[in-house]
Amino acid sequence: MSIGDNLEKIKDSLPSEVTLVAVSKTKPVSDLLEAYDAGQRVFGENKIQEMTQKWEAMPKDIHWHMIGHVQRNKVKYMAKFVSLIHGVDSFKLLKEIDKQAKRHNRVIDCLLQIHIAEEDTKFGLDENELNEIITSEEFHQLENIKVVGLMGMATFTENQEQIRREFKQLKSIYTTLEKEIENLGILSMGMSGDYQMAIEEGSTMVRIGSSIFGTRNY
Ligand SMILES: *Cc1c(COP(=O)(O)O)cnc(C)c1O
Repeated sequence: MSIGDNLEKIKDSLPSEVTLVAVSKTKPVSDLLEAYDAGQRVFGENKIQEMTQKWEAMPKDIHWHMIGHVQRNKVKYMAKFVSLIHGVDSFKLLKEIDKQAKRHNRVIDCLLQIHIAEEDTKFGLDENELNEIITSEEFHQLENIKVVGLMGMATFTENQEQIRREFKQLKSIYTTLEKEIENLGILSMGMSGDYQMAIEEGSTMVRIGSSIFGTRNY
C-alpha cells in the first residue's frame, strides 16, 4: 500500500474531532511530500535538527509538531516555526520556550508530558511536578507559551489492560487539569499500535508513524 492509501485508511477510521499527527521521523522528504499530496498537513518529528531541515524543504502551510525529548539549548532552532511542542517535561524547559518564543513575537502552544509508563526511560512529569508547575506564580506570568493539553506514552507491552489503565490515568489527570487551566483542548495519546484504544479512552490527538510510512530503519 502507498503512503497515501495508508493515510486515507487511518483518517477514515478516526472520529472527526481527533487530529492525526503523521510521525515522519527518519523518513526522507519524498515520503513526506507523498503524505502532503494526499492532504496531510500535520507532521511530527522527534529531532529538532531533522525537523528544521524538513521545514526548510517542505511547503510552508505545514504544522510542525515536536514530539520528542527537547534539549533546552536547541529550542532556539525551532522557535520561529514550531506549532506544537508535545514533550515539555520541566519548568526550566517551559521557561526557555517562553524566552525563545518572545524573541520571535510568538506564543508557542505546548503540551506537558506526563509519565504514565512503568519504564523509567520514558520522559515526563509526575502529578506532583505537574501541580508544582501550574500552581507557581511564575507559570502564570509566562506570556509567550500556552499550555493547551497533555501528552503521554504508554508502556511498551503486550498487556492491553495495562496500556488501557495508563491511558485512563492520563485522561483523569487531564480532566483535573481542565479545572485549573482554561481552554485546554488536546490530549495527545496513542501511536500506531494503540491509537484505537487511546481514542476510546479520550485521546484527541494521535501520533502515528509506522502505520503510515512503514517501519523505520535507524
Ligand atoms: C515515533 C513516535 C511515535 C510514532 O510511533 P509509531 O509506532 O511508528 O506510530 C509516536 N509518538 C512518539 C513520541 C514517537 O517518538
